[in-house]
Amino acid sequence: MASMQEMIAQAERDLLHTYNRYQVVLDRGEGCFLYDTDGKKYLDMMSGIGVFALGYGNQEFNDALKAQIDKVIHTSNYFYNEPAIRAAHRLKEVSGMDRVFFTNSGAEAIEGALKAAVKYAWLKDGAGDHEIIAMDHSFHGRTYGALAVTGKESYRAPFGTMPANARFAKINDLASVEAVFSDRTCAIIVETVQGEGGIYPAEESFLRALRKICDERDILLIFDEVQCGMGRTGYMFAWQKYGIRPDILTTAKALGCGIPVGAFLLTEHVAQHSLTAGDHGTTYGGNPLATAAINAVLDIYEREQIPARAAETGAYLYDRLEELAADYPEIIDHRGRGLMQGLEFEGTVGGIIARAMDRGVIFINAGPNVIRFLPPLTISKDEIDEALRLLRESIRE
Ligand SMILES: *Cc1c(COP(=O)(O)O)cnc(C)c1O
Repeated sequence: MASMQEMIAQAERDLLHTYNRYQVVLDRGEGCFLYDTDGKKYLDMMSGIGVFALGYGNQEFNDALKAQIDKVIHTSNYFYNEPAIRAAHRLKEVSGMDRVFFTNSGAEAIEGALKAAVKYAWLKDGAGDHEIIAMDHSFHGRTYGALAVTGKESYRAPFGTMPANARFAKINDLASVEAVFSDRTCAIIVETVQGEGGIYPAEESFLRALRKICDERDILLIFDEVQCGMGRTGYMFAWQKYGIRPDILTTAKALGCGIPVGAFLLTEHVAQHSLTAGDHGTTYGGNPLATAAINAVLDIYEREQIPARAAETGAYLYDRLEELAADYPEIIDHRGRGLMQGLEFEGTVGGIIARAMDRGVIFINAGPNVIRFLPPLTISKDEIDEALRLLRESIRE
């Protein structure tokens, strides 16, 4: 077999260079640990960017996938299939939303959410120039529509005219939202806890105010929970902590625990006044393999009380990170909910993350100055202690 260095060199010749990757070829996983092709073991504090909530090698999950593979993997949306019927119903139950559309990714869930919101407004006034208010530091994905509402200028700048008219405001700053509001505004999109942009939780009062604005003007509130949803904050969906239901909800990442799947969910009212037959579609979306994954995930979540567990270990992580932040003056802020937290440093964190990797623990950043904590939701307190011990060494070095 080729050495890790040879494989990396090959990859750099063949793959489009859109990522600066860690110089590691990962091979297999078990629980909260990953192994590279040289057999080196890593404690995983990023779970494939918040995807592998159940940890690696969950036998029940793997067996459910294998069983579905042997039955049928794909059928197309011209037919019904049993795993999708069950997954849609289960997802409604756990989210309190009314209608489900399955996608293949988070970005595609955003695309569908935006199309539904614009169509809802179009049905009222027939206008073609509706605007969407999004937040600075937001991240909604890399496809054109999702990019249009992503609050990072450098991601959008090279790509010309955007397909959705976005106006940007500041999270937790209602005045900044009102400042960009117009009679063309048709929706407000916000991550309940901003992930990629630096782990900024939306405050309850802010979400409540957005809900009120949207209700008063009959425009739609979209919560993007692709990263913060699926139990990560200690609730199945982060907004459930406040009981502030959106009109459209997006989910992906941990939804399929590694099988590429996402969804957007709507209230019955929005579903009845937005996308209809012929408006939207997908070849793969909601196929039997992907929805079998969702069913297995939701079964295991329910039986093992995964969100409650994330709340408990999340609180433990919070306390430990408060201690850590107090010990290092270069740490200037600590934010987050549940098992989605961030430590903001005065300087960049790339060096710390690289040294941690050498020591066998994988962290991810969220912007240049923030170390993001996004472990599998099954992580134990001992594993958290171990990760933070190695992090302290990596900061000190
Ligand atoms: C990752 C992410 C997306 C995009 O999901 P993909 O599956 O990468 O397309 C959208 N919104 C949020 C909040 C995300 O974290």
